[in-house]
Amino acid sequence: MNTQEIMDLDKKFVMQTYGRQPIVLSHGKGAEVWDIDGKSYLDCFAGVAVNNVGHSHPKVALAICHQAQRMIHCSNVYYNLEQAELAKLLTQISSHDRVFFANSGAEANEGAIKLARKYSGKGEIIATHNSFHGRTLATVTATGTDKYKEPFKPLPSGFKHVPFGDISAMVEAITEKTAAIILEPIQGEGGVIVPPEGYLGDVQNLCRQKDILLILDEVQTGFGRTGEMFASTSFKIQPDITTVAKAMGGGYPMGAILANEKVADAFEPGDHGSTFGGNPLGCTASKAAIEVILDEKLTYQSKVLGEYFKKSLEEVASKYDIVKEVRGMGLMIGLELTKSCTEVVSEARKQGILINCTAGTVIRLLPPLVIKKEQLDIVVHVMDEVLAKIS
Ligand SMILES: *Cc1c(COP(=O)(O)O)cnc(C)c1O
Repeated sequence: MNTQEIMDLDKKFVMQTYGRQPIVLSHGKGAEVWDIDGKSYLDCFAGVAVNNVGHSHPKVALAICHQAQRMIHCSNVYYNLEQAELAKLLTQISSHDRVFFANSGAEANEGAIKLARKYSGKGEIIATHNSFHGRTLATVTATGTDKYKEPFKPLPSGFKHVPFGDISAMVEAITEKTAAIILEPIQGEGGVIVPPEGYLGDVQNLCRQKDILLILDEVQTGFGRTGEMFASTSFKIQPDITTVAKAMGGGYPMGAILANEKVADAFEPGDHGSTFGGNPLGCTASKAAIEVILDEKLTYQSKVLGEYFKKSLEEVASKYDIVKEVRGMGLMIGLELTKSCTEVVSEARKQGILINCTAGTVIRLLPPLVIKKEQLDIVVHVMDEVLAKIS
């Protein structure tokens, strides 16, 4: 089947919830992917910050193959070694003590909200405008964009929103019913919004003062994306609960709630669960992906290459009035334009670069952390040409 035939098949049989680019991807290696016509692309989207270790990393692929031959799934009614080992590894690379395994970011956040409510015996969750926490009813309610939730009313109650970066608004919003604050360290879908200096530390102090929980949604920023294993390290904070997913499984769907012992203990047998969460195959994939991040020093790569990439992009951006700002941390970079970026995305794709447009006017660059400096130079060069063309 050719691209058009596959697109037609999809349009006929798949619910049309995605605005898709008109290419059909077939395979990938490192930071490169190919479509079914054999055209190659440098992937600066990485499946929305999922493919941090690159496409089909041989160590992850092999670990999945071997585990699939032994056991793909058992139930959480039984123990499995892979899950216990991955939980231990996650506590070693984070500031947390206990793990609950889920399959996606939304499911991790949904569980974190339940955990915060059970722990505190209170109902209210404060989130921020412009945030993104997932598509389930509770997480879409926590999400700070009205258009994602309007059509799905009635929504769960107990959620409030304040502007991101505004500590006094946060202080105002807290009541005696507040269970937790949920935040992304850097808003991803919202347009790669880095908070003002000191904001996250202030939120953490506020939480401690008022005895409420801080849930940090690191679904997008986790696993090396911002130049540290978790962005909480860059911002020098220690949340009570961290949620992770996206890059966690090296491409295999995995999510988790990480929590401190005291909070985690609020969950008792029967309180929460998941059929697939933490199955042997997912845990093996995740352990392999995390080991690759550690062995190949990809957090360091993300930091060093991220600085280089951002600086190169700033140089290009300074030539064009349509670029308002270049911002970000590590290999999570946003270019805010003065107009819609959809044209930039399709033009870049034609020139062999996959990028994403979020929040309408922000080009979001999230390359795999294994991308090479020479490949980033190509991306910068193409961005220069594309911006010149549409200016
Ligand atoms: C993608 C994302 C989610 C939702 O993850 P899914 O796996 O799509 O459910 C939640 N929070 C943040 C910050 C995200 O970027």
